[in-house]
Amino acid sequence: MRLIILVAIVFVAYMLIKGFLSGARKKPSVAPPLHHRHETMVRCEVCDLHILKTEALYSNDKYFCSNKHLKEYIGARHAK
Ligand SMILES: [Zn+2]
Repeated sequence: MRLIILVAIVFVAYMLIKGFLSGARKKPSVAPPLHHRHETMVRCEVCDLHILKTEALYSNDKYFCSNKHLKEYIGARHAK
């Protein structure tokens, strides 16, 4: 009688493990590729260089790649 119970326990355990393994296999093994962050590009008013909006200098509704070009633009406007 004990042997039948033992076989039943082993059988149930086997079915549980089999079900667990088949369930785990359904999960995607490869993670989806990371999405590239969409960064807005802006154009430097002086040299037309495209730079990230987050890295660009902003002044008078214009974007600049560097402080040098910002000063150049402001200086040119004042000179006129
Ligand atoms: Zn520039």
